[in-house]
Amino acid sequence: MTEETLNKIFVSTADIFSDNLNNLKDTLPSDYFNNVKKYHPRYLSLEYTWHGGEPLLAGQEFYARAIEMQSCLIPKEIHTSNKIQTNGTLINKSVANFFKKNNFVVGVSLDGPEYVNKNRVYRNKKSSFADVVANIKLLQKAEVTHGVLATITPDTVKNITPAEFMSFFGELGSNLQVNVFYPVGRGLGLSCKKSDSQEIAKFLFDCFKIYLENKTITIKDFDSYIDALFLNQKLPYCRYTGSCITKENMFGFDYNGDVYLCNRFIGLDKYKFGNINEVQSLNEFSDKKQKLYKNYKPNKKNCISCQMAKNEICGQMGGCIFAQELLGYDPLCLVTKQLSQNIAQYKKEYYMP
Ligand code: SF4
Ligand code: SF4
Repeated sequence: MTEETLNKIFVSTADIFSDNLNNLKDTLPSDYFNNVKKYHPRYLSLEYTWHGGEPLLAGQEFYARAIEMQSCLIPKEIHTSNKIQTNGTLINKSVANFFKKNNFVVGVSLDGPEYVNKNRVYRNKKSSFADVVANIKLLQKAEVTHGVLATITPDTVKNITPAEFMSFFGELGSNLQVNVFYPVGRGLGLSCKKSDSQEIAKFLFDCFKIYLENKTITIKDFDSYIDALFLNQKLPYCRYTGSCITKENMFGFDYNGDVYLCNRFIGLDKYKFGNINEVQSLNEFSDKKQKLYKNYKPNKKNCISCQMAKNEICGQMGGCIFAQELLGYDPLCLVTKQLSQNIAQYKKEYYMP
C-alpha cells in the first residue's frame, strides 16, 4: 500500500469520526459528552485491523510509518488503535517490542499441535509450527496483548480430542479464539459438508465443558456464549449484530485503495464500492452500500429455533454476510446454533434447572 493510499484512508476514516465528534459536541451537554468519551470509547474510536495475505510481509518500517501518519492525521480526541492478524512466522524480538510500544493487538493463527496445524506450511511445504510457537513466546515475553486464532476444520475433530486440544492451548498459555473453517479463498477445495458443523459443534461443546471446569486461559468465544446464554448479553461479533450492513462504520481496504464492505470481500469485484483515491470522502460510498444491501435478504432459516434468537442477544441476520453471499449460509452460525442448544441444555441440567 502506497503512502498516498494510507494517507487517504487515515484522513477519510478520521473525517467520518470527526463529523460524529462534532455532532456529539453540538448536541450533548459537555458533562455528558465527557462521559460518552469515558464510558463508550467505541463511539469515538477508530480501529484499524491489518490483514493479508500475510501483513507482516510489508515489514516493520511500514507499520512504523503508518503509526506516525496516524498520529499526524487523526485528531487526538479520536482514540486510534491497531490490530494485526498474522501467521506469526515473521515476528521477531524487534517486531514484538514494536507491537508492545505501539499497543498493537496481535492475533496469531495456530490451529493446534503440529499434527493438527498441518495446513500452515511455508511455500516449500515445511511446517511453520515450531517458528510460530517460538514467536508466540516472544509476544508473551514482550507482554504484547495478543491471542491465538485456531481454525477448526473437519480434520481437526478427527485428529485431536477436546482434552488434548484444550491441554495444548492451556500449556501454550495465550488467550484463544476459535474460528470455523470456511471452504472459500485459500480453503477452497477442502471438503466441508453441513454435517461437519454437527461434529465441530460437538467437539467445541466438549471443549466448553472442560473450560467451565478448569479455566486456565481465556477463550473469548466461550465467554461470549456464557454471557449470552447465562446472562442474556449481546453476542459481540459482527456476524451476530449484522452491523456491517445496518451501520456504516466498517470498510475493507485493499492494498491499492479499493474499498469493500469488509476485508473478507477483498478481491471480489461484485462487492467493490470504488477506490478511495478517486473520491473526496468515504461518504461517497454510502449510497452504493445502501443500494447494494437495501434489498438484501438474509438467510434466516437457521435462526428459527436457535437459542440465540433473541433480540437482546443476536441480530438474527443469519450470520456473516460474506459467508451467506458465497455459500448461502454461515457455517459458523450452524455451529453456534448447535453449540448453544447443547450449552442451554447443560445449563438447565447443572446450573439453573
Ligand atoms: S442462527 Fe442463531 S446465532 Fe446465527 S444469526 Fe441466527 S439466531 Fe443468531
Ligand atoms: S461480512 Fe461477515 S465478517 Fe465482514 S463485517 Fe459482515 S458479518 Fe462481519
